[in-house]
Amino acid sequence: MPHFFHLDGVLHAERTPLSRIAEQFGTPTYVYSKAALLENFDAFADACAGRDALVCYAMKANSNLAILDLLARRGAGFDIVSGGELLRVIAAGGDPAKVIFSGVGKTVDEMRLALSHDILCFNVESIPELHRLNEVAGAMGKQARVSLRVNPNVDAKTHPYIATGLKANKFGVAFDDALATYRTAAGLPHLTPVGIDCHIGSQLLDDAPLLEALDKLIELVDALGAEGIVLDHLDMGGGIGINYGAAGDAPPVPVGDYLGRVFARIDAWRAANYGGAPIKVIFEPGRAIVGDTGVLLTRVEFLKPGAEKNFCIVDAAMNDLMRPALYQAWMDVQQVQAGTQPAVSYDVVGPVCESGDWLARERELSVAQGALLAIMQAGAYGFTMSSNYNTRGRAAEVMVDGDTVHLVRRREDPAELFALESMLK
Ligand SMILES: *Cc1c(COP(=O)(O)O)cnc(C)c1O
Repeated sequence: MPHFFHLDGVLHAERTPLSRIAEQFGTPTYVYSKAALLENFDAFADACAGRDALVCYAMKANSNLAILDLLARRGAGFDIVSGGELLRVIAAGGDPAKVIFSGVGKTVDEMRLALSHDILCFNVESIPELHRLNEVAGAMGKQARVSLRVNPNVDAKTHPYIATGLKANKFGVAFDDALATYRTAAGLPHLTPVGIDCHIGSQLLDDAPLLEALDKLIELVDALGAEGIVLDHLDMGGGIGINYGAAGDAPPVPVGDYLGRVFARIDAWRAANYGGAPIKVIFEPGRAIVGDTGVLLTRVEFLKPGAEKNFCIVDAAMNDLMRPALYQAWMDVQQVQAGTQPAVSYDVVGPVCESGDWLARERELSVAQGALLAIMQAGAYGFTMSSNYNTRGRAAEVMVDGDTVHLVRRREDPAELFALESMLK
């Protein structure tokens, strides 16, 4: 069900007109739909019902406490990539026993913090990381549960910046080195190998590469079992894409279909090799949970016609939404209200002093100065990637629940941005 739609000529989030939000909270503002968020999470949760499975939301996609709280109450675990993210989980009332810790560069302090909260598992990405974790756990008198992030060398067929499962990527342990690395882990006194994981890339529209990666993980679980290293979970990572609405884009695989195929494959394997004994399955979705639950609401500051291009200069910029500048991502732009002007092709750009500061290119818009635009499907890797470049305070974030609007992060005041700085004495 769409949660952002035009009603009486005005773009709404649930039952709330975006024009009302702009008046009350100003622009630029990220607007999230609570119903959309829960619906997306439930697609995963429903497909996992009755199974030993855990959905660990990859919170780097959007780590606002209101989102974490709603998902935690729904039973979500969390995939974190820093100590700071663990502190957010705890602040939001999430359960550290459902947290897995990913990332190639975990520091000693981050390991200590995670061990002190007894997280579910460390997804380890290299041999030196195994040794560091073993030392840190030993010094604390603890045992660290570990999984190796295996790089299955499958081509996720996505943008090179968001492909992570190829030999040329910095992530994970090479497939051919996995067995030896597990032996190393099993030989370290303060580590307990409990799982295996992969994460091959992001914005995958087809699940074929994920199922190919699953087959490779299955092969390793069997080989490890034969050596007496018995794992109790298998983690598929994240990566399922969303529909950004570009003409000609293939729709993403429905979440239920993908999970159904994963479970069918796993059930057949367990029946054949383990007398049907199940293995816990973990998913780490980020974008698929939050991507289409948010829009970035922005106002037109100036229209600037030119010889080659017309620019629509808005009050949101690359510091608010980095995906176009970083990945040349295509984002849908919708007018909050229809304009009376003839439609003109515009590049939608922000005020930041970089030519890379654009949000959308060559869009037909019928707008005047002061008009409101919504950058659609901006819920994932939007606010979390935002910065203070150009000493711009970050946008406000609101969550809509029906006709109620909750401010879930107030707009930053520019004076706060240099409050931590000091001049020489
Ligand atoms: C970013 C990330 C995810 C989430 O990826 P999506 O494409 O947003 O689903 C999952 N796992 C790991 C290890 C990640 O780094």
